[in-house]
Amino acid sequence: MSSRRDDILRELGLTPLWRLRESPDTAPAAGAAVSPPAVQDTPRPAPRPDRAEPASLVPADERTAHILGMDWAALKAAVAGCTDCKLAQGRNKTVFGVGDERAQWLFVGEGPGADEDAQGEPFVGQAGRLLDSMLAAIAMKRGENVYIANIVKCRPPGNRTPEAGEAAQCEPYLQRQIALIQPRLIVALGKTAAVNLLRREATIASLRGRVHDWRGIPLIVTYHPAYLLRNLPDKAKAWEDLCFAVATMRGLLADDAAPT
Ligand code: URA
Repeated sequence: MSSRRDDILRELGLTPLWRLRESPDTAPAAGAAVSPPAVQDTPRPAPRPDRAEPASLVPADERTAHILGMDWAALKAAVAGCTDCKLAQGRNKTVFGVGDERAQWLFVGEGPGADEDAQGEPFVGQAGRLLDSMLAAIAMKRGENVYIANIVKCRPPGNRTPEAGEAAQCEPYLQRQIALIQPRLIVALGKTAAVNLLRREATIASLRGRVHDWRGIPLIVTYHPAYLLRNLPDKAKAWEDLCFAVATMRGLLADDAAPT
């Protein structure tokens, strides 16, 4: 193990609990810590045609259809100008999402906190630093084959959990981001991301360790970095989840490369 990875695992609070076994190939060593999971071969969503600029105050299904037809530029502009729920009143900046717009990995959090609201970028505060360390531990880096987004694009006051209506208003934006990115794997960070993406109430404990499905895209659930900062022993479980995600991605990419 490299000393850099040791440093990262120490930062994650995972030593001496966790030691990576070296992988025989050059892929991220994190995948070596778990057996490859069974993953269903899932079709990727078809890209949608681009359409014109958004209009506001239209019926919900028309609004959704309109958003689902946007290209990146129109989508970014629509989010930046969105006033379709009350979160808009308290925000400083909208937080669209950041990263590689053709990433194979998509990490989805809950919503912006104070730092993100000030800077307009997801996961830039303390939880974001832990997320960056988690990515580094699996040999990944923000922006490089990774996209990071949230369930809601505006900061809920006092960092409360987004209400169902707020998440519903924001959902088409995330749906469209996912359709444009076409990630190979989604990682839901925390309960709010998981229950909104999977559309069912459940605990993180019951959702971890399995490959779920988001409209044909495999989805894995793990703890939110902010939760991990308050619950240090669960970092080891998050590490298991990351290893599981790496192994799952390997399986998916191997399936993609296999002759049909
Ligand atoms: N927590 C989140 O869920 N998202 C962010 O962008 C920051 C903190």
